[in-house]
Amino acid sequence: MKYKRLGKTNLEVSQLGFGAVQICRVPETEAVNLVREAVNSGLNLIDTAHDYPDSEDILGRALKGLRDKVIISTKSGKTSREEFLDELNTSLKRLNTDYLDIFLFHGTSKSENLDKLIKNGVVEALLKERKKGKVRFIGFSCHNPDIIDRFYEVADFSALMIPINFVSTEFVDKNYKKLVKNDIGIMAMKPLGGGRIEDARVSLKYINQYEKVIPIIGMQSIRELEENLELVNIKEPLDDGDRQTIENIRKELGDKFCRGCGYCLPCEQGINITDVNYIKVFFKQFPFDRVVNPERDKVVEHVDECIECGKCIERCPYSLEIIDMLKENRDYYFMRKEMGK
Ligand code: SF4
Ligand code: SF4
Repeated sequence: MKYKRLGKTNLEVSQLGFGAVQICRVPETEAVNLVREAVNSGLNLIDTAHDYPDSEDILGRALKGLRDKVIISTKSGKTSREEFLDELNTSLKRLNTDYLDIFLFHGTSKSENLDKLIKNGVVEALLKERKKGKVRFIGFSCHNPDIIDRFYEVADFSALMIPINFVSTEFVDKNYKKLVKNDIGIMAMKPLGGGRIEDARVSLKYINQYEKVIPIIGMQSIRELEENLELVNIKEPLDDGDRQTIENIRKELGDKFCRGCGYCLPCEQGINITDVNYIKVFFKQFPFDRVVNPERDKVVEHVDECIECGKCIERCPYSLEIIDMLKENRDYYFMRKEMGK
């Protein structure tokens, strides 16, 4: 395993990070074995979040006796001081640790959320917790490539987690050089597009072009771990065949590849466009009963209220075919619900 410096955190992290969003999809003993196997293989960067179902709890059990071998990154999306502190302390308990190596503000794609972090004293609270030694480094996790410049005003941060894959290239196109110049540690979420890109080999080759980027890949089996460990070592650059594959996949997914940035909102009919458009990703990442439930039934049924005004499409920077996507995702959700798996 090779290690790289994660920007100005100066942490030496494995060239591949372990995404723990999906470990709740397999029986706990398998999940625990997988995490321990990953750490024993040299993987030392583990990313989770307060909101990933059961993920922190499982990690807490899996990492017993291994805490000093790993760098843990977790997140909270709370924008009120009390709720934020509650989540931070819960994360520490669940992870069975006294400190987090990296704490990321979660879901910071909208400017209003950043304003709340400052106004509600959340940033100040985090800085106090850092002084107490509960957090070592601060960062952000977001789905909006245009908001990153604002993070510099919000907090002195040293790590960032953004989607990087060959379909949503805008994050690196717009920000990579500046992030490197400012020595920000860059972690790539969704290197496989949240499961929508099936060619992992080409995906990893694409990301490997960016020397300073650490891909965080969600894994749920030893087989996937072994495959990823092999792929991350590929040193050859993209060749013509890879470029053709990328073009084909971009064409296939291009006008229906939601980035989750939320620019299309608000919908006057109250439709939660980002949630519905992420249905297939949710099915790949979470256990069935965390995706299909009465609450989400309502969110998805709400698609029927669409009056096809087209305003969301006008606002989407990628001009996605949102109306068709909503219907497709609604039908897909209810098909899976009927199948019961
Ligand atoms: S087209 Fe439908 S989903 Fe989009 S803004 Fe209009 S009502 Fe909402
Ligand atoms: S539909 Fe477009 S604007 Fe809305 S979240 Fe997806 S990519 Fe962003």
